[in-house]
Amino acid sequence: MRVLKFGGTSVGTVESFRNVVQIISQKLKEDKIVVVISALAKVTDQLINSVEYAGQRNPEYKKIFAEIKSQHYEFVHELVSEEFQNDAKSKIDLILNELELKLESIFFLQEYSARVSDSIISSGERLSQIILTSALNSAGIKSKIIDAGKLIRTNDNFGQAEVDYDATDKLLAKAFRDSKRDCVEVLNGFTGSTAKGEPTTLGRSGSDYTATIVGSALNANVIEIWTDVDGILTADPRLVSDAIPLKTLSYQDAAELAFLGAKVIFPKAMEPVKFKNIPVLVLNTFQPAFEGTLINNEPEGNPYSIKSVTHMEDLSLITLSNLALDSDTHLLERIVRILKHQKWPSIFFNYSISQRSISVLTQTKKSIGLIDEIRDKLKNELDDRQIGNINLRNSLCLVSIIGNNSDNQIETMNKIFRTIEANHFKNILFFSCSEGRNHSFLFAETEAEKVVGAIHSTFLNEFINTNVA
Ligand code: ADP
Ligand code: ASP
Ligand code: MG
Repeated sequence: MRVLKFGGTSVGTVESFRNVVQIISQKLKEDKIVVVISALAKVTDQLINSVEYAGQRNPEYKKIFAEIKSQHYEFVHELVSEEFQNDAKSKIDLILNELELKLESIFFLQEYSARVSDSIISSGERLSQIILTSALNSAGIKSKIIDAGKLIRTNDNFGQAEVDYDATDKLLAKAFRDSKRDCVEVLNGFTGSTAKGEPTTLGRSGSDYTATIVGSALNANVIEIWTDVDGILTADPRLVSDAIPLKTLSYQDAAELAFLGAKVIFPKAMEPVKFKNIPVLVLNTFQPAFEGTLINNEPEGNPYSIKSVTHMEDLSLITLSNLALDSDTHLLERIVRILKHQKWPSIFFNYSISQRSISVLTQTKKSIGLIDEIRDKLKNELDDRQIGNINLRNSLCLVSIIGNNSDNQIETMNKIFRTIEANHFKNILFFSCSEGRNHSFLFAETEAEKVVGAIHSTFLNEFINTNVA
């Protein structure tokens, strides 16, 4: 059995949606297929914007709602045969009516909770799921809607819910007990629910995670992530035109790449499959014959190789400096507690005994909450001058090089520093993981594209020699 996940970019236009139906019909000849689908491209962004506008009593939300409605109607009109159109439209109307009512209430109340927001932003997947099953039925392929919202059990950390794997595995196994070889079950990605049945979302781009959760629970042979690029590349092809696709990647490197900014795969997606060793293939919906990237366990004694360059933007660095000599361990402990309370927003955490400073690299949107809490909880330490200064630096970008290079770290670092020097880039800070799986450098955001391009060029020959057959 295979799980096929199609991202928003694969269902952004009527034409690409047809490719998806075509790919499923081909795959179905070889294997039993379960599909996980994302919302149509940009629909989740539109839903988030509509909630925010409604919450500010801005009638603009009605315009966005109308656009969502007409886009889905158009897709039904183009992709679903007359026989199945009424059924598809009435299912879509049910969801749209519910959505409109919720947005209207937010507009009048001028407030909404994270719980209500999740119930709205997860509806994009419920809509695309209806279009896909109706399009498959129209093409003579038996298909069935399965509501992943009811099967993926999570906690109530709305917007970034954590999965209860034991409960989820049981619910999924039960739901698929009578599954038939010739029927394609279509699940809505990105969503789950609490034990009380409240809808949750798994984090932006979370449909990849839905696919690996489902694949793991059902012991799939393979999970295929269908997207708009030729697999996982040596850099984001939108930034680096000569980036090349990787033939293979370990679960660990794929997760590292994702956590450090590569949007192509969701960071937590490797968790459910890595222990069961279920392979994940990243494939291109627009070039289905291309072999893509195979993610699986790292072979024993894997030779040194740098895999990819990635970057993250919209970062801020909070630095506590001039720490009093004998209070640093106490301060460290307090900061760790604050980070824990803020649900670990740090990307990197740096403590320098020589400079008597602690730095936290975080997303800009989380930095204000974090700095406010530091100022509040460490007020006494600030008043007593145990902390000399708190400094906030915004508009930063983290460029990382990923790969298992534990034997050759010095050479890699030399190459990176030489590239930085030759191009006169201003490196602000440097982080490295102990196993040598990543080296990360902090720059001003304005330099992001140039730095990624230059570092990729430095390693291009290595990429070609080690990653291409
Ligand atoms: P989907 O809609 O299929 O989930 P996403 O937009 O989430 O697709 O992810 C695909 C995008 O990820 C690509 O279009 C590409 O710009 C971006 N990306 C970033 N880093 C990489 C990388 N190293 N390899 C491939 N794609 C990458
Ligand atoms: N539709 C959701 C998002 O845009 C989930 C996904 O596409 O994976 O974040
Ligand atoms: Mg994605």
